[in-house]
Amino acid sequence: MSEPGPTSPVPASADDGATYGVAKTALVGKSKADLEGLAVALGEKRFRGSQLAKWIYEKATTSFDHMDDLPLAFRQTLAREFALSPLTVADHRRSTDGVDKILVHNGDHQVYECVLLPYDDRVSCCISSQVGCPMGCTFCATGLGGFDRNLTTSEIVGQYLLLQALSPTRVSHVVFMGMGEPLLNLENLLSAISLLHDEVGLSHRHMTVSTVGLVPQIRELARHKLPIHLALSLHSPFDDVRNRLMPVNHKWPVAEVVAALKDYQVATGRKVTYEYLLIKEVTDTPEQAEALARLVRGNPCVVNLIPFNWVDTGQGFQRPSRDRVTAFRRVLESRGVNVVERVERGHDIAAACGQLAGQHVGRFANRRPLSVRD
Ligand code: SAH
Ligand code: SF4
Repeated sequence: MSEPGPTSPVPASADDGATYGVAKTALVGKSKADLEGLAVALGEKRFRGSQLAKWIYEKATTSFDHMDDLPLAFRQTLAREFALSPLTVADHRRSTDGVDKILVHNGDHQVYECVLLPYDDRVSCCISSQVGCPMGCTFCATGLGGFDRNLTTSEIVGQYLLLQALSPTRVSHVVFMGMGEPLLNLENLLSAISLLHDEVGLSHRHMTVSTVGLVPQIRELARHKLPIHLALSLHSPFDDVRNRLMPVNHKWPVAEVVAALKDYQVATGRKVTYEYLLIKEVTDTPEQAEALARLVRGNPCVVNLIPFNWVDTGQGFQRPSRDRVTAFRRVLESRGVNVVERVERGHDIAAACGQLAGQHVGRFANRRPLSVRD
């Protein structure tokens, strides 16, 4: 087991046992219309369902006891029959710079993680879409652990609400960059996005979906014409390098996935992001910087440089020196490419997708990596 890093365990709140992880149907994940129907079915007026939706989604309430504008008998019935959220907190760590990472499960051994990221100008969160991931990227702690299952809409939105309940200020941004490949779980992802937009009130423009590069699903997402920010994990402009890092590239090579991203940009009007992992002497060479600049030229986009966050995946990958990162960045900038670097305080958590879950690696015994070549 690796060291947890500059983090400390945070004790569970008194509400956890009361509303989280009880083996009852969870209300999180139901739309306002569903909750109105539920209220009526339980002998209440329809508007009680809409009040309930406000408590769950707008106020991120963690206990039925807090819902003081609902009749006591209704609250008691709800508490008897339902859970608010399906999630149980398995581990909660706070880094010294105020980042919370939380490992959750639903009463079984399938753990997944979510992260609260306060910045100076906003609070963001990073949430998981799957338990594990079948894509098998060779630099990724989640990929190393294999795949269990897709998360439900309730579990996806539940992560957001858990983090919002922790945050003293509004969590306005969501990035789907936790465990898993969101576009392999497109239906539940889209339902979760609808709830976050319609019931929680988040802007689509404040939601980022990060994908390994599944071309049909990128095109499907584009057809919805939602102004969601799409980020592609590109990591190399060369097929031979990308093949080695990301098995998905055998199926959808660089040219195809970049074409899909350009079409997504046109369909949605949103600037896209190319995430670029810098692995020493593997992806950070000047030739790749030049080729990357040529590849994205003329496309409204940002290249997000992510120095490799060390994970022992048996490949011997190393994080590049500061000088190599700067040299790579300068090549791109000299070719007119917009470049950002992943902010240092977040990188150890957001980039290290699956690392906290990886500390509970005994729980992953039955995970299986899937082949994407089929
Ligand atoms: N499956 C999606 C989203 C989850 S991974 C995807 O791959 O895009 C989120 C980001 O973390 C991806 O850009 C991924 O390449 C990156 N990542 C994974 N392992 C990393 C590591 N060890 N160091 C830095 N970034 C990593
Ligand atoms: Fe899955 Fe993304 Fe990790 Fe690849 S980088 S294994 S797609 S979570």
